[in-house]
Amino acid sequence: MSERSLLPLAEARRPLYAGVDLGGTNIKAALVDDEGRLIVFHTEKTHVDRGPEDAAARMGQSVHALAHQAGIATADITAVGLGSPGPLDLPAGTIVRAGNLVGWDNFPLRDRVSAHCGLPVTFANDANAAAYGEFWVGSGRDYDSLILLTLGTGVGGGIIIGDLNIEGAHSHGSECGHMVVDPAETARMCPCGQPGHLEAYCSAKSIVARAEEAVAGGATGSLAAAVRGGEKLTPILIGREAENGDPLATELVMETARWLGIGIVSLVHAIDPEAVMIGGAMTFGGARTPLGRAFLERMHQEFRQRTFPSLADKTAIGFASLGGDAGSIGAAGLARLATRQGRNPASAR
Ligand SMILES: [Zn+2]
Repeated sequence: MSERSLLPLAEARRPLYAGVDLGGTNIKAALVDDEGRLIVFHTEKTHVDRGPEDAAARMGQSVHALAHQAGIATADITAVGLGSPGPLDLPAGTIVRAGNLVGWDNFPLRDRVSAHCGLPVTFANDANAAAYGEFWVGSGRDYDSLILLTLGTGVGGGIIIGDLNIEGAHSHGSECGHMVVDPAETARMCPCGQPGHLEAYCSAKSIVARAEEAVAGGATGSLAAAVRGGEKLTPILIGREAENGDPLATELVMETARWLGIGIVSLVHAIDPEAVMIGGAMTFGGARTPLGRAFLERMHQEFRQRTFPSLADKTAIGFASLGGDAGSIGAAGLARLATRQGRNPASAR
């Protein structure tokens, strides 16, 4: 969401929920009403190096800050949702092995955040939370089931069917980025340590690595020239050069789309959702730019080619709409869902 529209508190429909989206760089918090409308938001740095207890305290303070900004008491917030990078142990409320949160393993994150804000906290994988946000109030709001793929440093996944967030028996459900798409011995290595996963082909890290290899291999054209001229190789640079018509940059973007299309086929054949949404930072401008639209069309083309003819034009494939707010709004939505279903843990107050 580039332009946030904030709902005046007087128009909010209670109960109110807070969502906290924990990232490696920022903690993003949002206060929403019962219809998922944003009332206030709050962002602070994660400061991973200061350790998990310090961050848990600041996540708790973020909830107090939301209440303060909105002019309510923290106790007026019914529950908090916390979205965290995984893998997680959801019943235990801990991070099992956090890639960029070094030293946070097995820290009782959910319960410490709950202690710091004095409210019950619902714990979720960050991509599942984002998927629920899109499902509840974003681009998936008109669908009864959806899969969200978030393209960033890694590839996150979330699967929502009705009011069911697919978390799995061992908290590893919806890990769509770690689906095997290439069983070949030459398959690219995923940061999780296994070869051939979707993330190894579709993340920002992957597209940059593939570009580096091409440039090192003697590729010509404007992207290669820019890199040799000292420009930092990023998905933004690749997108810019693809928009300028550079063949290598265009190929890198379209190859990424092709792999995503292959992944989407398997996901759709397992779940058959109404919609598949693509979100995250690496969407090449999304629906707003010709490149973003071509990126999506290439995915769709691969999907149509490989799926059942009876399904080819039925599954909606599109871009997510909440941007960086999906995780916090969705986490709040999952807290609301848990409250309504009577699954809210007791406050650790
Ligand atoms: Zn993996």
